[in-house]
Amino acid sequence: MSPMLPHFSDIVWPDVASYWIGNACVPLCLLAGPHAFAPLDREDGAAVLDILIEDGRIARLAPAGAASADQRPRVDLRGRQAWPMLVDVHTHLDRGHTVVRSPNASGMFADALKATAADRLKWTHDDLVTRMDFGLRCAYAHGVSAIRTHLDSVPEQAERSWHAFRDMRAAWRDRVALQAVSLLPIDFFRGEWGDRLATLVAESGGILGAVTRAASAGGHGAPLDDLDALLDRLFGLAARYDLDIDLHVDESNDPKAAALPHVARAALRHGYQNRVTCGHCCSLAVQPDDQAERTLDLLAEARVAVVTLPTVNLYLQDRGGGRTPRWRGVTLVHEMRKRGIAVAAAGDNCRDCFYAYGDHDMIDTFRQAVRILHLDHPLAEAPALVGPAPATIAKLSDHGRIAAGGPARLIVFNARTLNEIVSRHHADRIVIDRGRRSGARVPDYSELWDDGVPAC
Ligand SMILES: [Zn+2]
Repeated sequence: MSPMLPHFSDIVWPDVASYWIGNACVPLCLLAGPHAFAPLDREDGAAVLDILIEDGRIARLAPAGAASADQRPRVDLRGRQAWPMLVDVHTHLDRGHTVVRSPNASGMFADALKATAADRLKWTHDDLVTRMDFGLRCAYAHGVSAIRTHLDSVPEQAERSWHAFRDMRAAWRDRVALQAVSLLPIDFFRGEWGDRLATLVAESGGILGAVTRAASAGGHGAPLDDLDALLDRLFGLAARYDLDIDLHVDESNDPKAAALPHVARAALRHGYQNRVTCGHCCSLAVQPDDQAERTLDLLAEARVAVVTLPTVNLYLQDRGGGRTPRWRGVTLVHEMRKRGIAVAAAGDNCRDCFYAYGDHDMIDTFRQAVRILHLDHPLAEAPALVGPAPATIAKLSDHGRIAAGGPARLIVFNARTLNEIVSRHHADRIVIDRGRRSGARVPDYSELWDDGVPAC
């Protein structure tokens, strides 16, 4: 160990249009497209590169050493890790940061639904944009460049929430790319509201979504008797407006919750391969192996993508007051990846009654996903779940990857190895947005303290 190495906090980032980032350690799973770089080892699957930045873009990716022959300014990372800014492909910005005013009495799913319905009465335009903006500032400061949020879209709420979303999307367009998905029990698609909602989603440039269970059942139990008909209705509306689909599916530890194969068959019936995403899919992990295998075959055939929400699953699944949970709540991520099914990890709820914690930090999601899902030994492919995989699912080709010719949007860590990234929270990470060091900081909690709750 050399006492001469400068501390990470002493790094001065070049404030010029053209410079080199020297000796950046990049996990190869985070590079776009074919490349000729060889990994240093199996555990990290990373290579040390020199990265040329020009006018906010990555002009060149070269083997380490290329920068030293060039006269341009250079910041030497000495083998520290550089990642792309990340993509959170499943969040609920409309519910976020309500945990103080609307706590979940038990931490359980059914109480979360009740508390959300009550809190929704407070969702004015001002309230929505205040909390959504707070969440976006958290995410951006942590190095997130794109977010897909679900929006509660029951009839009395939808217009207001989609209006707030459109305002936020416009305000944030240069920092965080925003997508939105309608969220409501699929039962609502039986009637006229299905048509009206599909129109609203289409006019807003959104994605059509729903929960595949009746709200009254608390998200548990067997599929609805008319689930196939409801899916046909939803897929038909999506096709009419040329909308992609993103569904909350089988967020339950009840093996009878088995809507997932119905969704895959609907995707095949409607020619919707590569256009459907399913979040959660928890019960797949508690179904008999042969049943799960058949469902995985269907997902692969229908090219349905899956998003796992490990922190929220760990929080909500298998919870029963005073009883120790027995399972982790997550779906069959390893088995899906082996079959070539697109799988991403995402953050889901943040400081609301479905999940009391969180800060819209995809590095936190990554670190917890590694532990909860055993994405290690080796760690080499794990970062793909929070960068390239969600970017592919969201069809955002300019996000979540490091690419020659792509935008210079990076996170630099005071860590040389993935082990060091997983082991610390890295609040001191450096975010580079289009070549320049970002000065964004997480918002202060005090901004949300005017909610009538007495301070401690
Ligand atoms: Zn969700």
